[in-house]
Amino acid sequence: MRRSGKCPKCGGKRLWVVDPIAQPDGDSSNQVHAMRVATRRLALAGGALTFGQTWERAAVGFFVAYVCEGCGFSEMYARDIEDLADLEDTVPHDAHGDPGSNVELLDTQPPKDGPHR
Ligand SMILES: [Zn+2]
Repeated sequence: MRRSGKCPKCGGKRLWVVDPIAQPDGDSSNQVHAMRVATRRLALAGGALTFGQTWERAAVGFFVAYVCEGCGFSEMYARDIEDLADLEDTVPHDAHGDPGSNVELLDTQPPKDGPHR
């Protein structure tokens, strides 16, 4: 839809582009927040996040939507995701509260070196 400029469901050619998708703030009526691709608490000292440790909230990327004016069919794309690997787990989780990461790379490319040449 983004490339073709045409809705694959109804053939419509009037598409709204919403960049980035934003949501209203839950507490303030005059604030909006861009929908992030991923966010996670990270320990400032590095390593697993343990109880009482100082942390920061890291957020990566934004979502963009293409919405067909005719039928409402929508496609979403992520942009600015170069730093997603920073949110992936690199250390074992602590049993006392670090929920771990919700970001994981599923890489299904064949290995460059190996038996599949
Ligand atoms: Zn449509």
